[in-house]
Amino acid sequence: DTLINQIAAGEVIERPASVVKELVENALDAGARRIDIDLEEGGVRLIRIRDDGKGIEPDQLPLAVSRHATSKIASLDDLEGVATLGFRGEALPSIASVSRFALTSRRDGSDRAATLEIDGGRVGEVMPKSHPQGTTVEVRDLFFNVPARRKFLKAERTELGHIEEWLRQLALARPDVELRVSHNGKPSRRWKGEGDLLSEVRLHEALGEEFARNALRVEHAGAGLRLHGWIAQPAYNRASADQQYLYVNGRAVRDRSIAHAIKQAYADVLFHGRQPAYVLFLELDPRRVDVNVHPAKHEVRFRDARLIHDFVYRTLQDALAGTRA
Ligand code: ADP
Ligand code: MG
Repeated sequence: DTLINQIAAGEVIERPASVVKELVENALDAGARRIDIDLEEGGVRLIRIRDDGKGIEPDQLPLAVSRHATSKIASLDDLEGVATLGFRGEALPSIASVSRFALTSRRDGSDRAATLEIDGGRVGEVMPKSHPQGTTVEVRDLFFNVPARRKFLKAERTELGHIEEWLRQLALARPDVELRVSHNGKPSRRWKGEGDLLSEVRLHEALGEEFARNALRVEHAGAGLRLHGWIAQPAYNRASADQQYLYVNGRAVRDRSIAHAIKQAYADVLFHGRQPAYVLFLELDPRRVDVNVHPAKHEVRFRDARLIHDFVYRTLQDALAGTRA
């Protein structure tokens, strides 16, 4: 089983940032309002994620780390409209098979907390341990038992950069959740919980003053689709292929068709091909989009891609029309 888990890890877990992503998404699925992320050596030495979510019962800990044991799909029908971020039940067993792993938790309303350690896939016993409500997952020495993968990890700064970039992407989508990051024992980043609205404070913090000053608010709904967020006005002329954030139902994705629609609307106003900068959220009925294309889940497939392309194009064209010189 360890071998199968390690193979699965090869698909989902590429580097420390992939671990952070999976664990933070689990914390969000559990309803966390605050997530603490402690890292050492770019996450290679240690990733510790602590949340204040609903927690796990002691006797459920072994289930949480066993393969395909997701608590998030009750029936096949649910697969159609998955609202939670994770639904494959692979992340924890995969990560635990390639690290020194510990899962510690206390369920809401319970007075008992417990921990389960797994060393390179070898599962220990559930042991009592004190812990506030919520869950802590500790991942030490990532890939210690898979030298071929460990060899491909980059310098501490690079791995930390990947983690920070992913957290920035998340922070933009979830201003309601507080995120606190430390690296090598020093606080490195703090995103305060700003309430439910996508806050301008976070926009400013994430993408800089100049973007925030030049950002044009987008908000449009129709045909069961809603597009909202910000796109930089043409006056913002920082070359910005790295400031393109697109979310579908709250999930950060890359989609060529939508990227094309955005670029096309921008080009109509600018008359040349500069990269647009944007933070855009598309909301639609989950049944109209398939998120199960790849385990890393950066890609989606739309049932009516053409309609969505045109909706995004027309919405942005209208929003940008007023900025035409
Ligand atoms: P998935 O997220 O796809 O269900 P995972 O392997 O990531 O699979 O997690 C397995 C299960 O462990 C989850 O379905 C959930 O029940 C439980 N779990 C994992 N992390 C947490 C957490 N931070 N808080 C509460 N439950 C968790
Ligand atoms: Mg998960």
